[in-house]
Order: sequence, then structure tokens, then C-alpha cells
Amino acid sequence: MAELGTDIDKAADLLRNDEIVAIPTETVYGLAGNGLKSDTIEKIYMVKNRPASNPLILHIASINYLDGLVTEIPETAIKLAEKFWPGALTLVLPKNDKVPDIATAGLKTVAVRVPAHELTLRLLSMLDFPLAAPSANLSNRVSPTTAEHVNFQIGKSIQYILDGGQCSKGIESTIVGFVDEIPIILRHGALSIDKIKQVVGKVLTKKDHTTIVAPGMSPKHYSPKTLLIACDNIQLTIAGLKGLHIAVLTLCPDSHKELDENIFKVSLTSKGDLSEAAYNLYEKLFLIDKMNFDCIVVEYVPDVGIGISINDRLRRASN
Ligand code: AMP
Ligand code: MG
Repeated sequence: MAELGTDIDKAADLLRNDEIVAIPTETVYGLAGNGLKSDTIEKIYMVKNRPASNPLILHIASINYLDGLVTEIPETAIKLAEKFWPGALTLVLPKNDKVPDIATAGLKTVAVRVPAHELTLRLLSMLDFPLAAPSANLSNRVSPTTAEHVNFQIGKSIQYILDGGQCSKGIESTIVGFVDEIPIILRHGALSIDKIKQVVGKVLTKKDHTTIVAPGMSPKHYSPKTLLIACDNIQLTIAGLKGLHIAVLTLCPDSHKELDENIFKVSLTSKGDLSEAAYNLYEKLFLIDKMNFDCIVVEYVPDVGIGISINDRLRRASN
């Protein structure tokens, strides 16, 4: 298993020696390596068993390093970066020649963000290269929000996990590309579309622009090993699953009192707050997944704000 600790000098040394290290961010833990070296990036793909067609996000210490990776930055991208970095916003921009093709799965664009986690920001400021870091889970599985989750999934394949506690946001960043300067949401995430609209006004989604390239967005992703069914009506869904050993994940503890008391119930929040639900989502899925139920039934949350991103993950986890 990997060593867990908060030694950023050790993490920096390993990274300078082309090793890969798990790092905390406010969204989920990342599996990081030198983002300018193809061989190191290849190790990340191997450990995760990630398809080569799914590009990575490059993490930088501040907006000042963006220029060194891209050829063009729309005015709207600068506005968003200035408002939300460090934070859960990833910008997809045309890459320059320094960024290896393997980091972008051969695309001409690169995904970049400044993570809002004190340990990782200090680590990044010690390095003279960006960190390529996809989520530190096995491909398609539940993303890790604690160092222990990382250790459980990929601890055998890495030396060191920088332990920054539980991720404060709990789901991945919101990924934004640009069509003629207009932001387009490529993946819903921890930063809500409403907040982005407040800064730039018009925002497109993939529905508005069906030809846009959005790799790694396969319908199946983020799945526990246990079969997961996301639904709008828990009672009806359970009625069709007689004889199975079921766990139910609800938004609030007091909802669904009608359910048989033998059914194992877990709630995502104490009172229904959607940010709290995002914070707890992967943690609860991870815990229930270890309990050997036949099936996990989850109810969709209200489709507003961060709820849009939670429902996206539930849909893909249940595919
Ligand atoms: P992960 O860090 O595991 O959430 O994965 C990063 C995600 O960023 C990928 O699955 C892609 O969906 C997205 N991404 C990375 N690079 C690009 C790019 N150049 N264009 C569009 N999306 C990208
Ligand atoms: Mg991921």
C-alpha cells in the first residue's frame, strides 16, 4: 500500500523524479505527474487503466502559468479564471507545442485549472512544471474524496499519497470550452452553471452545439462495483426488485419513511442542502459499495444548481 502523509517536499522530489503521486484538491483526489513529460503521463494512464482517448487536466499554481501552455485565451476565459481560480473550473483552450499529445489524447486543446487546496497549491509553486492529474481512481469507478479511498483503489501501484483530508467540494470540476468566445459547458461539475452565467452572461451547453468535441464523457462512468439504479421514485423502483438485498441512498434522512424498515437507508445530507450532498456523494457510494448489497437505489436530487452535476454523475454511475 502507499504511504500517506503531508510532506510536500517528499511529494515534490518524487514528482521531479518522474514518479506519480496522489494529490488532494477541493474537488476529488488527483493522480499527478509531470504534465510536460509523455513517459510520466503514460504511467498515469497505466495505473488508472484509463483509455488513451480520455485526456487529462493540467493543474497550475496560478493564472500566470496559463500563457505557457496555450496559444490563445478568449477574454471570457480570462474573466472566468480571474473570478473562479483557484477553484472548480477547468478551461479547455488551444494547446501549444510544450503540451505533449498524450496529455490531451491527441486533441489540439488542453484542459487547465488552478485547484483550491492549500497543500497542492504549495506543491505546485515548488515545481517548474504543471501537474497532469485525472481523478485518482481506477477508470470508470467512483472518484476518491479521501486519501483512504485512493489507497483502497490504487494504493498498490503508487508510493505516496499527499493527505489533504476530505475534499471540500466532493465532485469533479466544471469543464468549460469556448465557441467564438462564448463559454460552453463540456462537463457539469462543482461550479454551478448559474455562477458562470453571472460572470459572462451567455453560456452554451452541449445541446446547443452537438458537434463540439467532449471526450471522456462516456455514458458509463463513476460507477460503484455494486449495481446502482438512479430513479425518481424509490418506492416504485424497489417494488420491482423483490428478493434483492438493497441499500437506498436518499437526499434527506426523514424522507421515505414508508419504506420497509429492513431496508438499509443512508442519506446524503441532514436537511437537503445540495452542496452537502455533493460533498458526501462519493464517500457514501464508496462505503455502501464495500457492504456487499445486490443493488444500490438512489433518488435523483432536485435538478438545480449543483444538483444538475450530482444528477449527471448518478445517471452515468447507473448506466
Ligand atoms: P478527470 O480528471 O478524471 O475528471 O478527467 C478529466 C476530464 O477532462 C476528461 O474526462 C475529459 O472529459 C475532460 N477533458 C480533458 N481535456 C479535454 C479537452 N482537451 N477537451 C475537452 N475535454 C477535456
Ligand atoms: Mg475521473
